[in-house]
Amino acid sequence: MPLNTKTHILERAPKTAGDLRAYNDYVFVWQQSLPSLAGKVTDGKVNPSRYNSTSTKDLGLCYETYFTNKACRYGSQCRWRHARLKEEERRWLRELGATEVVAFMDSMWAEPFVPESTPWFPPYMFTT
Ligand SMILES: [Zn+2]
Repeated sequence: MPLNTKTHILERAPKTAGDLRAYNDYVFVWQQSLPSLAGKVTDGKVNPSRYNSTSTKDLGLCYETYFTNKACRYGSQCRWRHARLKEEERRWLRELGATEVVAFMDSMWAEPFVPESTPWFPPYMFTT
């Protein structure tokens, strides 16, 4: 996809996509002592490049909830989003060329059961 086209699509991102880098630093410290299932220490979030977005348009999706068939180890205490993708977000992701990723995340989301909800606040609530 030409960069110019992608830039326009990113500019039309839903309000729920935003820059989470500062929040990410906080979460990373909070769960530093808890390695991932593969033994790596990660931030626990789906990297937005996985759905063709960037760090400034991040949906804050919990990696274990959206990208694995395992339940999130933090359950309702997770600092990332467990809530299901909204139709507006799906449309935007498809525009970004992430149709297959959306289908994959849909197939993983409720495995092994519908995830517990988390106190997730969309990024726009943090902008000043
Ligand atoms: Zn989670």
